[in-house]
Order: sequence, then structure tokens, then C-alpha cells
Amino acid sequence: MLDLILRDITLPDGRTGLDLGVLDGHIAVLGPKLAASAHRELDVGGELVCPPFVDAHFHMDSTLSYGLPRVNQSGTLLEGIALWGELKPTLTQDALIERALRYCDWAVAQGLLFVRSHVDVCDPRLLAVEALLEVKRRVAPYLTLQLVAFPQDGVLRYRPPTPGGDDAFTLLKRALDMGVEVVGGIPHFERTMEDGARSVRLLCELAAERGLRVDMHCDESDDPLSRHIETLAAETLRLGLQGRVAGSHLTSMHSMDSYYVSKLIPLMRESGVAAIANPLINITLQGRHDGYPKRRGMTRAPELLAGGVPVAFGQDCTLDPWYPLGSGDMLEVAGMGLHVAQMTGQDAMRACFTAVTETPAQILGLEGYGLHVGARADLVWLQARDPVEAIRLRAARRLVLRGGVVLAEAPRRETRLHLPGRPASTDLLR
Ligand SMILES: [Zn+2]
Repeated sequence: MLDLILRDITLPDGRTGLDLGVLDGHIAVLGPKLAASAHRELDVGGELVCPPFVDAHFHMDSTLSYGLPRVNQSGTLLEGIALWGELKPTLTQDALIERALRYCDWAVAQGLLFVRSHVDVCDPRLLAVEALLEVKRRVAPYLTLQLVAFPQDGVLRYRPPTPGGDDAFTLLKRALDMGVEVVGGIPHFERTMEDGARSVRLLCELAAERGLRVDMHCDESDDPLSRHIETLAAETLRLGLQGRVAGSHLTSMHSMDSYYVSKLIPLMRESGVAAIANPLINITLQGRHDGYPKRRGMTRAPELLAGGVPVAFGQDCTLDPWYPLGSGDMLEVAGMGLHVAQMTGQDAMRACFTAVTETPAQILGLEGYGLHVGARADLVWLQARDPVEAIRLRAARRLVLRGGVVLAEAPRRETRLHLPGRPASTDLLR
């Protein structure tokens, strides 16, 4: 007797008419028309069942702080950073934990069960680090939070608020000692190109020394000469970090000379560096200094994919100094990436779904991710027939499961119609 059977499911790869059986928190069977019975059986009616969404790039320390102490008037990255600097000294651990937990509730409701969050280490109190480590412990039964030590003010540029205080590199190492798992950075925010490159070397060496992954905010700029991704790829090769490094944003690639990019993408591929675009935030923050025509400012996702570089799409921000919207909905993220990168071919649209599921799972190093026999029963039932329809409809998450335990359930989304001679309702499915 199984614990649960989902009858008549469709998988993201297109296999359909399958039954999925859960026993002791794991996927015990997956095949057509299972003869087994279970304590609970659900008829999925041929709709999509996928592994949970994965967000490769988020900021949980600032989430839900929108409007504190004021809103970002210019809408730029730089005013956002300045605003966060104003807010930082007034943060309290309780408020930060409360906001992060609230966001995690939203994430679970959206079927988002794996989040890589950057956490600002440019604070002598390391308050956000302590708070998010506590959040990580509290949400562990239902959401996996992977933390990146992120020197928001620049690992070299940061000046401690009191003379003689710890520098950012010391604070970053302390955050790693406390349990933060990934090395972050922000080379384009350092004072000079040379400092930016030096910061990349310093941080990659630290990651190599400690056997950690690297995820840097890199070239989040419209400046076509912001080329820290080149240094990041070269350092990855030099230090043997292949497969453990990601460059987040990479928006300057949008503006770069195409000849230079034709050399850069093969270098990224050779170094095994992954790209993480953040479509909602890139389309909002970039191009702010442009008149018309106005650049989109998202990295070259289709060209990177064609060049063999893994590309994930991240949420980045929800209701914080950088972004006034957001709801933890990775289908919204995939949909925006699809639009901004003009990825409208059938394969390209499916790649946008992969960019919020399998690819970020690889980047985070999640083991056993995916729907296969023996895997932990982590899954989401979406009210859609396939990944493209899921993106189109930002499909309802009918059921969210982790380790076979139901974390969230939502009713079928359907609108009653009162139209003469037409059906009584519609669910917008094709
Ligand atoms: Zn970010």
C-alpha cells in the first residue's frame, strides 16, 4: 500500500498518462496505469507535474522591506544600494526574520522550494547573516535555503563605519565560518576596473582554498566595457573551479561588442561558468540612463545557451529597494525572461521553464533533484498541460509536495461565465 498516488500526470519532458506513487517520502513507482492502491489518490487529469521551482538568485535579507525608509525614486541599481545602506543600521533581527519567513510562505505557495539567497556581509554586526542562518534552520523542513556571502558595498571598496573596524574580506570570511556556504562578490561596484578584477581573484582564491562555490554579481551595468566575467571565467580555469562558479546578472553582455562576445562565450563554456539572468530586475533597472531607443539590459540568454553555457533565471528581488513588485512566482520570472530575450520558439520557451527548474538545481548543486524513482517526493502539480502553458497562465499550483508531505494545496482556477450560448465556465487552458 502506497501513501499517495497521482494518477494520469504529464511530465515536463512530454511523457504523459503516467501514475506516480509515493512511499515513505520517496517516489516509489512511476509508470502507466499502476495497479497499486494508496491511502490517498488524486486524479491529475493529464496536467503537468514537475519538480519544485528553484531560484538561483535572491536577496532574502531585503525582501518585503519596500518603502523602508523611503522608495527608490530614480529606479536605478545605485539608488537601491544607497537606500539599502540607509536602511541597514536600523534593521532588527526579529523584523528581518519575520519578513523572510513571510516570503518563504509565499515561496512554498508558489511551489518554490529551493532558494539561493545572497546575504549582505558589509555590516560589522553581521545581523542579516545571523538572521538568515536562523531562517535557514527554521524553514529547513520545507524549504532549502542556500546562502551566499555577499559584500554589497564591495569587498575592497567597503569602509567600516568606525575606524579600525573589520574590513569586508574579514567579515565575509566570518560569515563563511558561521555557516554561509557560497562566496559572493560585486566587482562592477568596486572603485576601478583593476579593483574589480582584484576582487574577483581574491574571492575565487578564497573559494578554492575552502572548497566552496562562487556566485558573483557580475557586470550588472550597461557599460559595455564592464568585463569582469572574463576575469571570473579565467580565474575559474586557473583555480580548477569548473562547474562551481556562476556569474549573476551579466547585463553588460547585452551592450558589449559582438566580436568580443564571440570570444567570451567559448571562454565561459570552457570554464564551466554558469550564467544567472534576473529578467524582472534587469528589464527594470538597466537602460535607465538611455534615451530612446532604450536597451533591454538582460544578458544574451539564447546565445549563451547556444554556446553551451547553462543559463538560469532568478527572481532577485521582491518588494525591496530595487523592485516594487514580485511574489516568488518563478513562472512570472520565466515569462519575463522569455519576453525580454525573445525566446518564443517552442524549444526556447521550454528552455525558459528549465531555467527555473533543472538548470538552477544544477547550479546550486542539488543532489537527487527531479522526478525519478528513488528521488525524494518533491513535486508541484500545475494546472496546465505542459511547461509552455504553465508559463502562459502562470498556472495555479494545485499541490506542492516535499518528501511526500503536502505543503500547499490550491483549488482549481476557473471562472464562471454568464454568456448566452457559451460554456458555463473557463479555465483558460487550451
Ligand atoms: Zn542580486
